[in-house]
Amino acid sequence: MKFCSQCGEQVIQRIPAGDSRLRYVCEHCHTIHYQNPNIVAGCLPVWEGKVLLCRRAIEPRLGYWTLPAGFMENGESIEQAARRETVEEACATLRNVHLYMLIDVPHISQVHVFYRAELASLDFAAGVESLEVQLFEEADIPWGELAFHTVRRTLECFFIDRRAGDFPVHTDCLPASRPLKTT
Ligand code: ZN
Repeated sequence: MKFCSQCGEQVIQRIPAGDSRLRYVCEHCHTIHYQNPNIVAGCLPVWEGKVLLCRRAIEPRLGYWTLPAGFMENGESIEQAARRETVEEACATLRNVHLYMLIDVPHISQVHVFYRAELASLDFAAGVESLEVQLFEEADIPWGELAFHTVRRTLECFFIDRRAGDFPVHTDCLPASRPLKTT
C-alpha cells in the first residue's frame, strides 16, 4: 500500500500505539489501514459418487482443475459464498450442503473453507471463469493437474472418509511442514 484510500496522501508503516504489529498508517487523516486474512469459500459437489471439477480459465493456475471456490464477498455468509462460486464457475446449484474442510494457509494469509454438497441436478456448465466442468470418478481425478494444495487435501480427505462411511469436519494447515505461529 502506498496511498491512503481515505484521503489519497502517502501512507507510512509503523506500529500504532497500543498495537504490536506494523500497519500502514496515514499521518494526514490518521486512518490505520488494517490488513487481515482473506477467506476462500468452495464446494465439493457430488453426483452419484462422482465429483464436479472445473478447469480454470483464469490465472492463477490457468488450465488446472479445481473445486469451485473463490473469495468471500462482504455481506454474505461463507456458505452463501461457496454456493455463489459454484453457480459462477460451474452454473450449478447444490443441496444438502455441509461444512467439511477448514484449512489455514498462513503464508498467504488465507483461510480456505470447503463444503460437501450434492449437485441438485445434472444441469451444469462452464461459467466464465472455467474452460470446462466435468464429473470425475475417484479413479479419474487428475491429481497431477490440480490447481491448489487445499483442493488436493480436500479431495484426499473426501475419498478416505467415503471409504470409512463418515464425514467429520476437518481442520488443517498448509503447507503441513510449516508450524502454526504461536504468539
Ligand atoms: Zn489518509
